[in-house]
Amino acid sequence: MDFLLSEEQRMIYEYGQNLSKTYDRKHWMEYAERGEFPEDMYQQVAKDGFVGVMVPEEYGGSGLGMMEMGLLNEGLSEQGIPLLSLVIGATMGLSLISTYGTEAQKQKYLPDACSGKTRFCFAITEPNAGTNTIRTATSAAATPDGRFKINGSKTFITDAGDADYMIVVTRTTSQDEAKRSTDGFTLFIVDCKAKGIECQPIPVSIKIPEVQYSVFYDDLDVGPEDVLGEVDKGFKVLFEAINPERILVGFICAGLGRYAMGRAVEYANDRVVFDRPIGAYQALQHPLAKAKTEIEMASLISRKAAWMFDRGEPCGAESNMAKFAASEAACHAVDASLQCFGGNGFTTEYGIFDIYPMARLLKTIPLNNEMVLNYISEYVLGMPRSY
Ligand SMILES: Cc1cc2nc3c(=O)[nH]c(=O)nc-3n(C[C@H](O)[C@H](O)[C@H](O)COP(=O)(O)OP(=O)(O)OC[C@H]3O[C@@H](n4cnc5c(N)ncnc54)[C@H](O)[C@@H]3O)c2cc1C
Repeated sequence: MDFLLSEEQRMIYEYGQNLSKTYDRKHWMEYAERGEFPEDMYQQVAKDGFVGVMVPEEYGGSGLGMMEMGLLNEGLSEQGIPLLSLVIGATMGLSLISTYGTEAQKQKYLPDACSGKTRFCFAITEPNAGTNTIRTATSAAATPDGRFKINGSKTFITDAGDADYMIVVTRTTSQDEAKRSTDGFTLFIVDCKAKGIECQPIPVSIKIPEVQYSVFYDDLDVGPEDVLGEVDKGFKVLFEAINPERILVGFICAGLGRYAMGRAVEYANDRVVFDRPIGAYQALQHPLAKAKTEIEMASLISRKAAWMFDRGEPCGAESNMAKFAASEAACHAVDASLQCFGGNGFTTEYGIFDIYPMARLLKTIPLNNEMVLNYISEYVLGMPRSY
């Protein structure tokens, strides 16, 4: 087993350091405060060839894997500049099109998305179904001319109002009519600006540059050429996106935790109270040391999950553990770091408290940690399903 990164992987991991020389945490926060997509930063990432990390080279990408996408995100987060659009659009969206798209879809969507000309969002969550995706009610009814009409609504869809395309999870067969509850799902690629789609921003308390939207579909017209994968067999496609998003959260949280702790150690070693640097006090050292240990463990399992994914091995257990371990560790790391700053931790000038909402958010999204633990209980430990 080799824990060393290749030269190329190290370069990808260190990209965040280079990017943050121009687009630093302060820049990211300015966009987050305004709830405005950091277009300049995203364009730079695309120009440098990092949006299409997982897209094959013939479609404008780099042809690399989950490990590289993870390292990219870990490196960005370690500089305090996480980009959710790289999770939702670049990883979930583009990877699925690379794997399940028709040749025409790949040609149509991938090169432009890799170059930053267009962006994708991903619409799963519904107001009534919530975590229970099986209860998806957004329907795509077949019409006599072989097309479909989409009706229903989604909630919390990141970037829906600004992105160009949306991958929408629908039911072409209702749960009642489907043989198995996972049958009857169909994914469509739709134009976000098409007639029949309306997006309304949802004000959220957390400061992030990417805005969330309620999305309403009213007889949205789509054709067979817009189906991603196969009609009624979309759950398989959806399932394919689940592990990557969890693995990526593992990488992002490891990076965020290191960012917070890096800031805290620098501050604590410098700030003198009672004639000694506060960093000398064990009360501050031990929570940081524990958090550091948790973060490095979470980072390891995230890398293991990515490594398994790239080898085509089943990695549900590792992906879920990575997501859980890293999001919990990141919250502990931010909390331990915040303590070092005393009152300054709560000021906008130091911006430490501002790291917390993102770390905490990632305990709840893309799948809440309770469902992650449910997965581990049921599928890894072999205990009865609790819900
Ligand atoms: C900032 C942000 C960005 C988002 N971006 C997107 C996006 O781009 N696309 C998208 O489709 N969705 C997106 N979401 C939605 C997000 O994925 C959901 O909010 C999340 O999955 C939880 O679903 P819910 O809000 O319906 O919670 P609910 O399903 O109502 O669950 C509420 C809580 O109940 C508990 N719970 C539920 N079921 C169980 C169970 N069986 N066992 C134990 N506990 C349980 C959990 O603690 C859970 O947090 C986003 C949300 C936010 C806040």
